[in-house]
Amino acid sequence: MSDASLPPLNVADVQRSVNAELDRIGPVIDELGRRFAAAGHELALVGGPVRDAMLGRHHHDLDFTTSARPDATEKILKSWGDATWDMGRAFGTIGCRKGDYVVEVTTYRSETYDPSSRKPDVDFGDTLDGDLGRRDFTVNAMAVRIPGRVVEDPYGGVVDLAHRVLRTPGTPEDSFSDDPLRMMRAARFAAQLGFTVAPEVVAAMTAMAERITIISAERVRDELVKLVCAPYPRLGLTLLVDTGLAAHVLPELPALALERDEHHRHKDVYEHTLTVLEQAIELEDRLGGEPDFISRFAALMHDVGKPRTRRFVDDGTVTFHHHDVVGAKITRKRMKALRFSNDEIDAVAHLVELHLRFHGYGTGEWTDSAVRRYVRDAGDQLERLHVLTRADCTTRNKRKAERLRRTYDDLEERIARLSEEEELASIRPDLDGNQIMEILGIGPGRDVGQAYQHLLELRMDRGPLDERTARAELLAWWKARQEG
Ligand code: ATP
Ligand code: MG
Repeated sequence: MSDASLPPLNVADVQRSVNAELDRIGPVIDELGRRFAAAGHELALVGGPVRDAMLGRHHHDLDFTTSARPDATEKILKSWGDATWDMGRAFGTIGCRKGDYVVEVTTYRSETYDPSSRKPDVDFGDTLDGDLGRRDFTVNAMAVRIPGRVVEDPYGGVVDLAHRVLRTPGTPEDSFSDDPLRMMRAARFAAQLGFTVAPEVVAAMTAMAERITIISAERVRDELVKLVCAPYPRLGLTLLVDTGLAAHVLPELPALALERDEHHRHKDVYEHTLTVLEQAIELEDRLGGEPDFISRFAALMHDVGKPRTRRFVDDGTVTFHHHDVVGAKITRKRMKALRFSNDEIDAVAHLVELHLRFHGYGTGEWTDSAVRRYVRDAGDQLERLHVLTRADCTTRNKRKAERLRRTYDDLEERIARLSEEEELASIRPDLDGNQIMEILGIGPGRDVGQAYQHLLELRMDRGPLDERTARAELLAWWKARQEG
């Protein structure tokens, strides 16, 4: 379910939410606004923090836009903030920290943009309206002047926000020609905010999807990661697939929509994949509760080997032999193309490769060594493998699903039992037999065994002891025994 299916927000409520947020952050930012004004510059809170304030969400990252040029901005921030840094002076952005807040101030961009001009990519501008017109979506093209708190909304962002819809300030065709990455951003914000994308924007994305290929892999990847880690990734992903953008940035996903053969002998792998992703998200508590990109992306990629390995067998069944191994290879290739780090690639590919391993467990009981091997092979991805394997069950047959769940519970219990036993088995007393004989001045015999047992009990009760304490304990035990 998405937020778009919720009733529209009331514009008065939206205004109340902004006011509440401004009251909260006012003590911090009003002073900054006064300093800019005193130096003869305009300052306005803009973009994400304004949009999110209207949705009743709080920010600690505060983005501002200003008429001041970067050098002037830097001077004011230095006099006000706890620490100041250069985020990219060429693009007009200076950053600073003030208490718990991270503040970024960017000089206005100009309203005119001529892609054929030889001018540098960034032209500084002089008006707030001009700056807002260059932004991606109307809900991101709102600002609040500081101090004074006047809301500037030249493109109807409040109304679009109330209807939970993403629309571009100008025509979507012009906007996406200026910067095709905005098409990815539409899908990302749909997934983050649970908004729908206006039909004319979807139409432009569909017509212009191919233009995404001029954008660097890194920028595409960053939007994809935000989309996948958002609360409603299904919304963003289906938009990428339906507009044809996915065919360029993640072609393995639309490829999962295999035509069903006439006998409906296998499930729609694409739909299955989106459900597995959502089920993996529901299990994220096990991974610390935060959105876990590796786990989510593994869910998304786990069956990408299926289209290539599909075989129709004479007896009417369909097989996907080795789709785990093939899928892991395809996953590596895609993540490499998207410039993910080697660690991220290894983790996701490893999970894809192991996602079927458990299915040998239910039928023939695994031996202890098979369980140990499962744990060892999963390595530091074990917890995510538990999540993926449990999520990878989308049968509507309740009893079948329940059986699978219990079988996996059983495997996890066995893993816990084995590792506990093995840890216990590896525990040794703090002194070995030779040390005991030397300290007590005795030769081999029953006494040594009993002393060893006593030290082992101590070790279990009290954890590791240093050698001096162990020695003292041993002598005390020996003395008590001889007296008793
Ligand atoms: P978050 O930082 O929480 O992911 P955000 O809305 O702050 O969300 P950013 O990517 O940080 O998003 O961008 C900040 C603002 O800058 C946006 O709200 C938008 O107004 C503008 N913006 C960023 N990238 C673009 C772009 N490619 N085209 C047009 N405007 C953009
Ligand atoms: Mg931001």
